[in-house]
Amino acid sequence: MAENGDQGRHQEVGHKSLLQSDALYQYILETSVYPREPEAMKELRELTAKHPWNIMTTSADEGQFLNMLLKLINAKNTMEIGVYTGYSLLATALALPEDGKILAMDINRDNYELGLPIIEKAGVAHKIDFKEGPALPVLDQMIEDGKYHGTFDFIFVDADKDNYINYHKRLIELVKVGGVIGYDNTLWNGSVVAPPDAPMRKYVRYYRDFVLELNKALAADLRIEICMLPVGDGITLCRRVS
Ligand code: SAM
Ligand code: CA
Repeated sequence: MAENGDQGRHQEVGHKSLLQSDALYQYILETSVYPREPEAMKELRELTAKHPWNIMTTSADEGQFLNMLLKLINAKNTMEIGVYTGYSLLATALALPEDGKILAMDINRDNYELGLPIIEKAGVAHKIDFKEGPALPVLDQMIEDGKYHGTFDFIFVDADKDNYINYHKRLIELVKVGGVIGYDNTLWNGSVVAPPDAPMRKYVRYYRDFVLELNKALAADLRIEICMLPVGDGITLCRRVS
C-alpha cells in the first residue's frame, strides 16, 4: 500500500513515469527496451529528441509494446492518426508483414518528412500511405464509401484529444470485429486524478476533460472490451466484439 510519501508523489502532475520510481522506469528502458531497439528506431528517437516538440513522441517502451502487440495479433491492415516524426509509425511498420499496410494521417507533413529518410532506410516505407490533413474528413469519406467497414486489424489514435470521441464513433465501424483500437495518452500526464485546482500546464488542463469523457465513454461502450495500460502516458486498448 502507498505510504504518505507515496501519496504526495502520486499527486504530482507531470511525473515522468507512472511507476514507483524513475529508477524503475530507467531499469525497464536499459534492461529490456534499449538493448533490443532496432537501429532505425534508435536513430529516429535521437533525431526526434532534437526537435522542439519532442515531448509529443511515443516513448521507446511504448514503441516496443506496440511492435509486440501488432505481431501478437498478426496485424496486417492498420491505421495511425497522429504521426509526428513517425516513431510509433516505424514501430508499426517494422512489425507488419511485407504486404502490411498503414494508413497514416497527420495535419503536418513536415515532421513526417523529417523522419521519412530513416523509415525508407529501414526498408518499410512501402507499407505506409501518408495522408496530410485532418483525419476526421478522411474517416467520414471511408465510412461513406462503404468498402472500408470492418477492414482494419489495428488502429492507433495519438492526435487531437478533443476529437477522440468523434474518432471512436467512426473507427468502431472501420475496425474489424476482433480488431483493436489503441487510444493513447488516456492517463493524460496523471491529470485524470489531479484535483481541479492543481497546477497544470495549459494544454494539459485544456484536454483533461476530453480525456476524462473518453475514458467514461469507452468503459460504457458494450461494443468493445477494454484494457487500460499504464504504458507511456496510458494507452487504452479496445477490442471490438460486436
Ligand atoms: N504518434 C506520434 C509519435 O509516435 O511520435 C506522436 C503524435 S503527436 C502526440 C500528435 C500528432 O497529431 C501531431 O503530429 C499533430 O500534428 C497531429 N494532429 C493534430 N490534430 C490532428 C488532426 N485533426 N488530424 C490528424 N492529425 C492531427
Ligand atoms: Ca502519445
